[in-house]
Amino acid sequence: MKRILITGGAGFIGSHLCERLLNEGNDIICLDNFFTGSKDNIRHLIGNNHFELVRHDITKEYFAEVDEIYNLACPASPPHYQYNPIKTMKTSVLGMINMLGLAKRCKAKILQASTSEVYGDPTVHPQVESYWGNVNPIGIRSCYDEGKRCAETLMMDYHRQNGVDTRIVRIFNTYGPNMDPYDGRVVSNCIVQALKGEDITIYGDGSQTRSFCYVDDLVDGLVRMMNNEQNFIGPVNLGNPSERTILNLAELVIKLTNSSSKLVFLPLPQDDPTQRRPNIDVAKRELNWQPSVDIEEGLKRTIEYFEKKLRG
Ligand code: NAD
Ligand code: UDP
Repeated sequence: MKRILITGGAGFIGSHLCERLLNEGNDIICLDNFFTGSKDNIRHLIGNNHFELVRHDITKEYFAEVDEIYNLACPASPPHYQYNPIKTMKTSVLGMINMLGLAKRCKAKILQASTSEVYGDPTVHPQVESYWGNVNPIGIRSCYDEGKRCAETLMMDYHRQNGVDTRIVRIFNTYGPNMDPYDGRVVSNCIVQALKGEDITIYGDGSQTRSFCYVDDLVDGLVRMMNNEQNFIGPVNLGNPSERTILNLAELVIKLTNSSSKLVFLPLPQDDPTQRRPNIDVAKRELNWQPSVDIEEGLKRTIEYFEKKLRG
């Protein structure tokens, strides 16, 4: 049995990770400040002797004896991370320093949930880990993109300077049950709007692309990365390389929900990346990982979740 700290454990991805690692017989500390996470996501785990829920903010120091740290704490949807951009930066930078300090003291392995946003609006397509990215340092997405880039730097410097066992994972757009219905991301927006028969909001002309990964696949990749014994520290892209336009996603959601919703076109937010698709050759080679849930199947499971959630 390992003692595992999951920061951001009450969030969308973190809650699935808590469940998976608890089911595998580990002792879990789920740490969260509940900014975007919710007790609802982990309510079914509360009461399990091997599950501990801690309300804490990672911008402040935290002490515990643990073997592994998954650092997921950070708002992930653009409206949420732009709500208080200075706090977002503090979470990525001060939070990362606090978690790396903890890892150093405990000699724990630490995995950082980084992001495809480190590539910005990429000029290399699909994105490979060796690409340094095209990020605006002074735009409205910068608090997130540059915060996550700085967190990667800290991971590497603690590794080189202090010998901390670090692992960097660059997550591409992930979706599934436990997403906040109103967090403003495209999958949750489209599904909720379709289920309510409201207009589906497309930003820009909808020709921008994303590659959507189902959460179970992603969580499997995170665990493989933490458990790999080959001294492979990353960074590694984790995502589903099946790329589609936002327009195509919206049409698929309308079909799967049998909705009468219409599309409405709104202005494209500043610095919205035009294309995004992971090259996952490194994950295949080093982790023997690739996604297995296709978009229709993943969307069906997510739609089912939102139907129940909206019914209350
Ligand atoms: P989420 O917003 O659902 O979860 C983030 C969790 O972190 C929430 O529970 C929130 O309350 C908590 N949190 C935020 N700031 C905190 C702080 N200062 N201290 C303690 N807890 C804090 O987002 P998610 O989609 O589950 O993302 C999880 C991680 O994965 C994030 O680090 C995100 O940047 C990264 N990521 C996600 C995606 C994606 O598509 N979902 C893509 C790339 C990277
Ligand atoms: N988007 C959209 N309608 C929405 C929400 C988002 O067209 O209601 C677009 C957004 O402009 C972006 C893409 O969908 O081009 C993915 O947005 P999301 O916020 O999910 O993630 P990110 O931009 O961080 O990849």
